[in-house]
Amino acid sequence: MNRLDLHLHTNRSDGSFTPTQVLELAHEAGVTALAITDHDIMMGIPEATLVGQQLGIEVIPGIEISSNFGDSELHMLGYFLDWQDVRLNERLSTLRESRHRRNPQIIERLQSLGIDITYDEVRALAGTDSVGRPHIARVLMEKHVVASAKEAFDRFFANGKPAYVPRDLPSPAEAIQWIKAAKGLAVLAHPTWVKTTEGTLTDLVRQLKADGLNGVEVHYSTHTARQTREYLTLAKQVGLLVTGGSDFHGLTKPDIEVGIGRGTLHIPYSLLHKLKDAAAQL
Ligand code: AMP
Ligand code: ZN
Ligand code: FE
Ligand code: FE
Repeated sequence: MNRLDLHLHTNRSDGSFTPTQVLELAHEAGVTALAITDHDIMMGIPEATLVGQQLGIEVIPGIEISSNFGDSELHMLGYFLDWQDVRLNERLSTLRESRHRRNPQIIERLQSLGIDITYDEVRALAGTDSVGRPHIARVLMEKHVVASAKEAFDRFFANGKPAYVPRDLPSPAEAIQWIKAAKGLAVLAHPTWVKTTEGTLTDLVRQLKADGLNGVEVHYSTHTARQTREYLTLAKQVGLLVTGGSDFHGLTKPDIEVGIGRGTLHIPYSLLHKLKDAAAQL
């Protein structure tokens, strides 16, 4: 069984496992091609590529960039990009700086709510330059303030909650342009999370296609069978590529496994060929 998984996080961003460990888990799961899609950082790709060569796993360079969408976010995945692209790395570095400005403010809000936590504790746990809210959530879990990352978002971090602090994010069109400027394919991540306020998801996806979008993440750990069918139809209607991934984060999202998500994820291997054909034409 050849499995495919095009959405994986390592501890270079907010996943809990090293690139080597993620590749080992993928190998055990029968995954033979995968993409590392860390938030705002591509530092995990060289290690993953090296271990992939040893284990016989094809590693596709990837990225996940959050973009601003009204009161919510759209996440943009990039594939087959040049991970050494200077311009993209500069842009990602700016995004990581906005994380560094935001995180201490989140910690201050938590402290003012009476929670015992410091930014040093979060940085020590994260051990990376791309520190996100899931790292703060893990410190809160270790301190038994919350039982899960989801609880931390629901009680503190989500938009409108007491420790919510916005950060500077690109527009969806900018995120797409950044990926394409680094010779990548741009894909809308997990459409189930998209909160359209005006117009339908189809309208939005048509607009994003006009902005340069190449694909939609149809197969995803938390998509129901019905959603998967719906997003497949959407991708066909609008003329976009189909991708799929687990969004594995390790211990940050303990219910999701590499390659199979919650056990029901099945990502057709054939979609990789279409992606490669499209990437070759960029
Ligand atoms: P940040 O990078 O700080 O903006 O945080 C984004 C990360 O938080 C992504 O990995 C999401 O998977 C995760 N996340 C966002 N909302 C939630 C939620 N409600 N529950 C758990 N994780 C979430
Ligand atoms: Zn994440
Ligand atoms: Fe995401
Ligand atoms: Fe993700």
